[in-house]
Amino acid sequence: MRNVTVLAGGVGGARFTRGLLAHLAVAAPDTAVTVIVNTGDDLWLDGLRICPDLDTIMYTLGGGINEEQGWGRPAETRRTSAEIAAYGRGWSWFTLGDLDLATHIVRTDLLRNGSTLSEATEFLCRRWQPGVRLLPMSDQPVETHVCLAENIDEHASGDYIHFEEWWVRYRARVAVSGFIQRGLTDAVAAPGVLKAINTADFVVLPPSNPVVSVGTILAVPGVRDALRSTAAQVVGVSPIIGGVAVRGMADACLSTIGVETTAVGVGLHYGSRHSGGILDGWLIDETDATALPALAAAGIRSAAVPLWMTDLPTTTALAGAALRLVAAN
Ligand code: GDP
Ligand code: CA
Repeated sequence: MRNVTVLAGGVGGARFTRGLLAHLAVAAPDTAVTVIVNTGDDLWLDGLRICPDLDTIMYTLGGGINEEQGWGRPAETRRTSAEIAAYGRGWSWFTLGDLDLATHIVRTDLLRNGSTLSEATEFLCRRWQPGVRLLPMSDQPVETHVCLAENIDEHASGDYIHFEEWWVRYRARVAVSGFIQRGLTDAVAAPGVLKAINTADFVVLPPSNPVVSVGTILAVPGVRDALRSTAAQVVGVSPIIGGVAVRGMADACLSTIGVETTAVGVGLHYGSRHSGGILDGWLIDETDATALPALAAAGIRSAAVPLWMTDLPTTTALAGAALRLVAAN
């Protein structure tokens, strides 16, 4: 039995993990996969606790995702959201489908009756059977907020708004000066999180947003240290291809924290485990192969392969390439 642990955000993490499972089903069927999921995007809407990244992974791996959107369920209506809006309540910029709402109702009921988020997640996964152990990064609420650098609508420059409002309502087009994780100082890693890193054979950073998905998980006390000290090989997959954040706006996050939106920029931002960073290996796209010497010079083993997760065979191949990159160490 081998153990592979993944630190994931939503869509990028979910697609990658689907490919990883397909790879392992053939190459190492006896492998157990744990996915530690960012909960910094979690929020309260209309009295319900929404966990966007946990649900995207649970639905994707459980066969219940709306593939076009990357979140929510297929063929669901928005009738309940429209009814809430008719009361003048709710958030016009964040719609929740009727089938998806059932998940949030069940989760919120569990939380209100004393379950931890880990327990509620385990309960929801009994239905969806994602084929992995899905762990929230923390059971305590940790919410990513952004500091606005300009006035917009009812918000003034210097105000903090929830990351999801910046991302979904403003499409990350409003300038921000930084990110904070509210609740972080009181947060601890959820049960099983540090052990899953310490006892893994491989820890994989999928091509998730380096700032607000992976970066938030790394900020949970103990997680970064666990990645530095684990006997596992730690390998990451670049979310940046040809200087562009594919299918997303991660460039807006990277530029805010002063990291170049390139495959090498993100690789160096994570850094080599030989010099205080977290990576043994970093997989980049074939079109970014010119970055290989710079990564090697920084002590990061790297290789260039096709990184577009366009279909399952390509995604399966790149997941296999990520594990092989560090397997020979
Ligand atoms: P979110 O929480 O739903 O935003 O999802 P993640 O944080 O897990 O992943 C978002 C990131 O996935 C984006 O910033 C993209 O850079 C990356 N991404 C999306 N599609 C692809 C792809 O096909 N290939 C690669 N390499 N990265 C991708
Ligand atoms: Ca997310």
